[in-house]
Amino acid sequence: MNAELIARYAAPVPRYTSYPTAPHFHDGIDEAVYREWLGERPDGPLSLYLHIPFCDRLCFYCGCHTKQVRRYDPIVAYLDALNKEIGLVAGCLPERRKVSAIHFGGGSPTIVSPKDLQRLRGTLDRHFDIAPDTEISVEIDPTHVDAERLQAWRSFGITRASVGVQDFEPIVQTAINRPQSFEETADVVTTLRDLGVASINLDIVYGLPHQDRAMLMRTIEHCLSMAPDRIAMFGYAHVPWIKKHQSRIDAATLAGPSERSRWRLPVLRPFLPRTMCLSVSTILRSRPTAWRRSSPTARFGAISRATPQMMPTH
Ligand code: SF4
Repeated sequence: MNAELIARYAAPVPRYTSYPTAPHFHDGIDEAVYREWLGERPDGPLSLYLHIPFCDRLCFYCGCHTKQVRRYDPIVAYLDALNKEIGLVAGCLPERRKVSAIHFGGGSPTIVSPKDLQRLRGTLDRHFDIAPDTEISVEIDPTHVDAERLQAWRSFGITRASVGVQDFEPIVQTAINRPQSFEETADVVTTLRDLGVASINLDIVYGLPHQDRAMLMRTIEHCLSMAPDRIAMFGYAHVPWIKKHQSRIDAATLAGPSERSRWRLPVLRPFLPRTMCLSVSTILRSRPTAWRRSSPTARFGAISRATPQMMPTH
């Protein structure tokens, strides 16, 4: 890739996991405007997004809207408001609506207790028609979840889980304050499968402190060994002036734009959207024996060639 292009597009851009992107949110959208927009929703099923902005610990690379909590009380207060909000939003719609997709993001949605999760499902059922084939997904931090909680999410109706990996290398995990073994991650994936969760996504982050191409490749290999249905790769954006906790990361340990581009995955090209989905499991499923026998370099090439299939996520 040409150096001039890398330099031109190396600047941080807004994450577009929401639309409009975060910089376009402003105080000018008040309750009246929101009610009006809800009232004008066209017919057809709705997708609901529920945000749980709490975590047990703060990962230093985190760019999400979340807060570290040591007690459960703030979560109880938030869930009270969320249950109320669900009723208010439903009340602004001209008629009772069908829901075709529900996504829980965070933060760590799995911080919600099984009892409170059941209550949330009851509130949603009271206000919306949630068909049995509704796609319900949740983001999971595998270091803070147990079998009981996963069972509660399955009872809630989840059909898809997005499990956070980021990177399995200890030096990277220490630098981002996210110790997470391969074994505990694989346990969560196995439990989800045993519970009947149909689709499992693994999240990886590239451009983390100390990370290099070989480490990224090893993490991808580990992820592939769990045979996920897809892998989503996010580029780390170092913006400590917005996310203060990122100042705990030494900027000198981060790969620069041209180094990231030399890792050769087209997903690293700065001019591409930062949130991408890489369908590596397609390769794994279509040529499993060849895949196992191939060299790491050949595998890396296969993944690179598969990237035209990449689609933005969320
Ligand atoms: S668990 Fe996820 S949301 Fe919470 S701090 Fe870590 S990266 Fe951020």
